[in-house]
Amino acid sequence: MEPTSLAFRERATRALADPVLSTALARLETGWQAARARAAADLPEFEALRDAAVAIRDHALAHLDFYLEAFERRFTERGGVVHWARDAAEARAIVLELCRAARARTVTKSKSMVAEEIGLNAFLEAHGLRVIETDLGEYIVQLAGEVPSHLVGPAVHMTRERIAELFAKAHGGPPKQDSAALVAEARRVLRQRYLEADVGITGANFLIAETGSIVTVTNEGNAELTQGLPKLHIAITGIEKVVPTVEDAFVLLRLLARSATGQEFSAYTTFLTGPKRPDERDGPEAMHLVLLDNGRTRMLGGPMRAMLRCIRCGACMNHCPVYLAAGGHAYGWVYPGPMGSVLTPHFVGIEKSWPLPNASTFCGRCEEVCPVRIPLPGLMRLWREEAHRRGLAPPAARFGLALWAFFARRPPLYRFATRIAVALLGAFGRRRGRFARLPFARGWTESRDFPAPEGSTFTAQWRARRGTGR
Ligand code: SF4
Repeated sequence: MEPTSLAFRERATRALADPVLSTALARLETGWQAARARAAADLPEFEALRDAAVAIRDHALAHLDFYLEAFERRFTERGGVVHWARDAAEARAIVLELCRAARARTVTKSKSMVAEEIGLNAFLEAHGLRVIETDLGEYIVQLAGEVPSHLVGPAVHMTRERIAELFAKAHGGPPKQDSAALVAEARRVLRQRYLEADVGITGANFLIAETGSIVTVTNEGNAELTQGLPKLHIAITGIEKVVPTVEDAFVLLRLLARSATGQEFSAYTTFLTGPKRPDERDGPEAMHLVLLDNGRTRMLGGPMRAMLRCIRCGACMNHCPVYLAAGGHAYGWVYPGPMGSVLTPHFVGIEKSWPLPNASTFCGRCEEVCPVRIPLPGLMRLWREEAHRRGLAPPAARFGLALWAFFARRPPLYRFATRIAVALLGAFGRRRGRFARLPFARGWTESRDFPAPEGSTFTAQWRARRGTGR
């Protein structure tokens, strides 16, 4: 997928004017955001689990080569085959080759962000394969010809009416307005597709080095049907997903669903340990795992390493005021929200995505709710610095920053200049108490008034409060 992140501002402006999208995004606040708060409050050891999760992820990342090799050994002993892919092109080629060797025509697929990252669907379709998404949200966005707008809820931006239209067009019959009827319709259609599929492709939430197991997590059971019914199962995931033990995986699983949707556990959590054995009735005859690097080892050795802890729960976007206003498509590539603002520049280059790290108020909520305590604002700041060093931001923004830096490096001059500015704004705005328009703050005053300051600067007020012990 070609990134369009440079158009973030235009896309976000369009999104802000879209009442349907605003209503859909508001549901995240009342829904998953509130549910996560309840789930965290109901579990006394929630914060301790987060600390344990950080330790597990950091330990696994510090010994990634060791655990990946251990995983490969176990996985191979259980009859699976591991393929190592350096980049997206290699990963796509491996999957295509496996599909061709299986003489596949139809492929079912459960949700995989790594598959999105490498543009797998479009590639397989361009080579004559029929690819069917089986996660309901992914199926909906596939019918719409769109990409997911959220890690956990790919179609959160859509209304029921729009989904009903899409289903009526794809399946025939009049549009259904009842959610249960729409789900039943998708289930009926997808059941047939599971039976037709020659290959099932899934992602993997975790890989367990101790047992050589792949862990998948869904709420619909579609990963199980995707991997279990066709003869060939191909899983694809990033190399950072490995954890040492089953116990470690459970620590992360206890946090994953709570952080994502407020559930104690997702409805389906499956540990896949090799293909079907001779005495087993169910399961694929062959199981292959594509392990993708695609820049992850570069991240491991650099200042963004903490980002590899991510367990793709989506909590950072559920709590981000920018995501909740602009929606996922504004980010212009696969990964939206604060985690996407860190990952996208890494994967597509900062020159193609520099607006994203700036699409943050730095309120810190993303870091506050991240189950593995990734310092997202700090990582976005690193990208801002890089963009500034390379001169990627527009001249006006760079001039503004340079001007601010000039004063900030000279505290007496800064205090003097801000005192003058505050005094002038206070004098001009005294009568109405606010400004409806300000020449250098049009972006602010276009949608709200700017309050007239009451006479003293922020620094002066701060000092006064500290002086009185407040
Ligand atoms: S950065 Fe943290 S909160 Fe965001 S998806 Fe990853 S684990 Fe979840």
